[in-house]
Order: sequence, then structure tokens, then C-alpha cells
Amino acid sequence: MSGTIKVLPPDVVELIAAGEVVERPASCIKELVENSLDAGATAVTVAIEGGGLDLIRVTDNGAGISPEDMRLVFLPHATSKLNRAEELHSVTTLGFRGEAIPSIARVSKMTLTSRQKGSAAGVKAVNEGGQMVSITEAAAAEGTQVSVRDLFYNAPVRRDFMKKPQREAALCADLLQQLILSSPHVAFRLTAQGKQLYSSPGDGKLESAMLSIYGVEALKALIPVDGAGAGMLVRGLVGIGEQARGNRNHQHFFLNGRAVRSTLLSRAVEEGCRHRVMVGRFPLCALSITLPYEAVDVNVHPNKWEVRFQREQQVQDAVADIIRQAVSEAPLQSPPPLFDQPILREEARVARVQPEDTPKTPSVAPAAPEPAVVPAGDGPAPRAFIARDAAQERLPRCAEPAPPPVVIKEEAEQIHNPQVRQAQTQLKVLGVAFHTYIIAQQGERLLLIDQHALHERLLFDSLMASAHTRQPAQTLLLPQVLELDYPDYQAFLAYRKDLEEAGFEVEDFGHRAVRLMSVPVELGEPLAMRSFLDALDELRDSGRLDGKSKRERIIMAACKHAVKGGERLPEHALQALADMMMDGQTIPSCPHGRPIVLELTRRELERRFKRIQD
Ligand code: ADP
Ligand code: MG
Repeated sequence: MSGTIKVLPPDVVELIAAGEVVERPASCIKELVENSLDAGATAVTVAIEGGGLDLIRVTDNGAGISPEDMRLVFLPHATSKLNRAEELHSVTTLGFRGEAIPSIARVSKMTLTSRQKGSAAGVKAVNEGGQMVSITEAAAAEGTQVSVRDLFYNAPVRRDFMKKPQREAALCADLLQQLILSSPHVAFRLTAQGKQLYSSPGDGKLESAMLSIYGVEALKALIPVDGAGAGMLVRGLVGIGEQARGNRNHQHFFLNGRAVRSTLLSRAVEEGCRHRVMVGRFPLCALSITLPYEAVDVNVHPNKWEVRFQREQQVQDAVADIIRQAVSEAPLQSPPPLFDQPILREEARVARVQPEDTPKTPSVAPAAPEPAVVPAGDGPAPRAFIARDAAQERLPRCAEPAPPPVVIKEEAEQIHNPQVRQAQTQLKVLGVAFHTYIIAQQGERLLLIDQHALHERLLFDSLMASAHTRQPAQTLLLPQVLELDYPDYQAFLAYRKDLEEAGFEVEDFGHRAVRLMSVPVELGEPLAMRSFLDALDELRDSGRLDGKSKRERIIMAACKHAVKGGERLPEHALQALADMMMDGQTIPSCPHGRPIVLELTRRELERRFKRIQD
């Protein structure tokens, strides 16, 4: 048998190397725009067609390339940058390896046109698959224009790895977001198939850059960050509360002007925002961090995404402190506007806490009878209405037979926990401790019930039940128009059918705006906007909406709407909650898995007080 190891021919080696630098259209744009920025450009326009696979054109107003240099630019490891720098790790320009142009040229048909500032004539180079076709004098505007056509036309394997053009376009848009945010002093424009997607003013303000991406509403809600610590300056914006998102797609970090990914920085921000962002949500942020070049290693991978800090813990603590400080100065956010209005769906079925009091005909009900749970205090009590929802799912409907109990399969065995199901003896609420733990007596035992955990569980059950049994979509009273960032808008366009199937009815309003008309019924109106954004994030990440996260969304909805620990509830509300628990269907742990009830038996008490011996 002959040997199977072969030395690869040089052109194959080159192709492989090229593939490492230019993975896809977005990475190609990144290299080209970084060259523009290195050349001192203040305006950069990126045009793509076919997701960048058919055409990428980057036009800048930078320093330009001289006719003499034009040929060198296409040679591997030719760079005008490294000799300016003392050491590799102190390089301040974005590119320095001299790899990008030759690598991209190797796998595409590239035309490079340039005119140096003050020079009379321009120069144009045409290259095909790494072979120079021509270099000629040409009329050109000051600056440089690089056109890349048919990317990977001669690397079919790489081309096969590309996603659909729409998806590649979204990745390009993601990249432009980062570029816009990392260089607010540069005016960027992105067009796809001739349509403008982004346009930033380049006025040097991060706020303007954020505005061009997230729109005016989001910007208003963001909190400015401006602090210093551990030898760093940290500036930017952070979004908590309603602005928090379902994943980390919207966390942007810039280190000395370079977009980076860093789990350490994400952790620091999340730490700093703790208690102001719900469990399972992530703060949105755009933070630019300035620190000495020696303190950081950005050269860990050719695509320069990952960074390594020299003093990690110090950096993390300092960033967390700065964020904490910024967030603590921000006023507590008011609830979303819809919380100020009662959610009046199906208000006809309200007073079902005491079924025996329920009138036999449905006609009497709308006269706003006592709700099931009413938070004390003045002002509107939005949760009361939500609590009614729980009651209405749980208790028999007027003149209708009670619906069969809904049991969620995976948790079915817990339901039969005898401790809670046991006694059908009356449960009497004695009081409440710390406005959090309902103290109740039932037969020979004393119960401590976490009011939030219990209510959350009840809501969860009812939402899950309706998610399985009702129409999937609930029409919003007031359709909501929202402006999406481009990748989200792309996701919306690409996954309209999936969204519709899940119960999101959304209309395209053009120019990145959509109108949200209905949401999956389990989510309800107050969460409409946010759950829609979550769904888009999920589609962007995984390409689908799966049942698991639907359950997670329900958990979050339940948590959000449930009465809180520490919230003052009137006595009858406490009793109603306890009764609903004894209704027998309630699983004795909250959807997050925390316990709902602690119990102390009479016997245990007597033993502790030494009334009886063991
Ligand atoms: P590097 O950026 O690492 O030097 P590249 O292959 O990306 O390597 O670019 C090679 C050289 O081409 C650069 O060093 C620069 O001199 C020149 N160049 C590339 N793009 C531009 C541009 N847009 N404006 C001016 N010069 C450019
Ligand atoms: Mg470069």
C-alpha cells in the first residue's frame, strides 16, 4: 500500500490561509473598513449585494494609496503599518499583518481604486483570484474604494459554508453596528441592494451612534456611564429593567476603539446591574474602555475579537463598580405604560375566589366585584387584575362546568406530594411576616408560605394551561409600533412564518419599523414588546423558537406579574392565595424551583418547647 500523506500544492495552502482571514462577507468588510480607519477616513460607506457574496464595496475618504504602492498592497505581508510601531503589542492601528488585501483578493474578484490626497491622478488595480489583471491610471475621488465581487467563487467548499444571503447580510449589519459604535467620530453608511440600512452622523458622540442603531425610544431609556478605575476610563450607555434583553447580543464593548468580545466584561456589567435586571435577562450596553496598551493583549487571534486582560480581577471589579455607580444614580424605572392600565380582558369572570358566592348566571359579573388579590395602598393596583386571571383559570366558570385540572407532564409526580394535598382541612391564615411569608394554620400544622413564590406558581399554571388550550394569539388592545435594529428587522423578515405560528402577529412598517398586533396568549399584553424582542433574539441565535424557551418566557411572565415579597397584601387576599394553593393543583415549588411552603407540625413545636419528649 502506498503512503497517503501528500504535501499540499502552494495554491491550496494559500487558499486555506485566505480562508482563515476571510471567513465570510462580514469578516471581509471588517478588514476593509479597518484599513479605511487606519488611513484616517472620517466617512466610510459599505454597500453589499447578495449578503456580500455577490458584492462588497467599501468607499472611504482616507489617505489613499500611491500608484507605486498599489502593486505591493497585494503581496502577502506587505504593510505600511508595522514599521511605524516599536513593538507588536503596542500597535495602535487596527491591521498590521499585511494579510487582508492579498487574502481577500485570492478568493474573489477585486478592484481597488485610490487617489492620494493632493495627488492629481488616481490608480486602479484589477485582481482576479490573486492574479493581477491590470494596474492603470484612473480617475478617482480622493480616498480609496475596494470592490469585492463573487467572494469565494474559486473556493467552493468555503462558499458552501455560507448561510443564506439574508443571514450573511444580517451578520454584516451586526458588524456595522459595532463599527458605528466603536468609532462615533466616523460617519458610516450601510446599504444592501441599494437600500440604506444604517447611517451614522460621525459627530463623535456615542449617543448619536446608538441613536442610529436603536432608535430614539430606546436611547431615552439608557443610562449614561462615565467613570474611572484600575487605570481605565469607562464611558458609554447601559440599559436595565425594560431595556434588558434576552441574550448578550446587545452588549457592545470597545477596547481602545476596537470592538471586542469579552466574557469578563459581560460578567462585570451583569454584576454591576444586579438587582436591576431580572434573572435570565441581560443588560444592553455600549461601553468604550480606554486603558494602556500594555495592560491588554488583543493579539490572541487573527480576527482580533477576543481580548485578554493582564489583571483580570481588577478590571472586572472596577468595571462592575463603575456600572453599579451609574445604575444606582438612575431613577427606578417606572413600569411600562400598560401596567398603569388594568388589563381588562375577560373581566366578566372575576369574582370566583369564593365559588359559592358566584352568581348562577354570567350576567351579573361585570359589575367589578371584589378582585381576588388586591395589593393594599392607593393608586391603581395593576396586579389585581392579573391575579384575577389566575383566579379565573383556576375556579369554575359561571354556569360552566369546571375545566379539568391541567397537569404539566414533566412535573406531574410532584403534584401528588401528600404534604400539600393531604388535608382538605380548612387552612386558616393567621397573618403575614415581613409582608412576605403568609402564616397559616391547617389542622395540626403551621405553614409558612412565600407569597411571591406561590402567586408565581399559580400564574405559571394558569398561563401554561391557557397556552395549551386556547387560541395561540391574543390581539393587543393597542397595536404597538417599534423600531428594530437592522439584524432584528432582518430576523423578523426572515422568520415571519415562525413568528406567526408562535402567535406573534406583526406587520412590516418599512424602514426597520414593525407593528405588533398580537402576541402568544401566554405572554399577555404588558410583555408584548419585550417578548417579541426576545423571540427575535432567539431566532437570530438559533434560527427557531422552541418549546423550552416558551416555557421560560412563561416563567418570566409569571415572575414578573406575581405579587412581590415585601408587598403589603390585605388579609382576604392572603387567604385567597392560600385557598388557591389548597385547591389541590398547585405544585409545591415555584417555577424557578424554590420552595413555596415550609411547614412545622404541632408535634415538632411541642417537642421544641419541651412539652413532650422524643
Ligand atoms: P495591513 O492592514 O495589515 O497593513 P492589508 O492587507 O489590510 O494589511 O493592507 C495592506 C496595505 O494596503 C496597508 O498597510 C495600507 O498601506 C494599504 N491600504 C489598504 N487599504 C487601504 C485604504 N483603504 N486606504 C489607504 N491604504 C490602504
Ligand atoms: Mg488591514
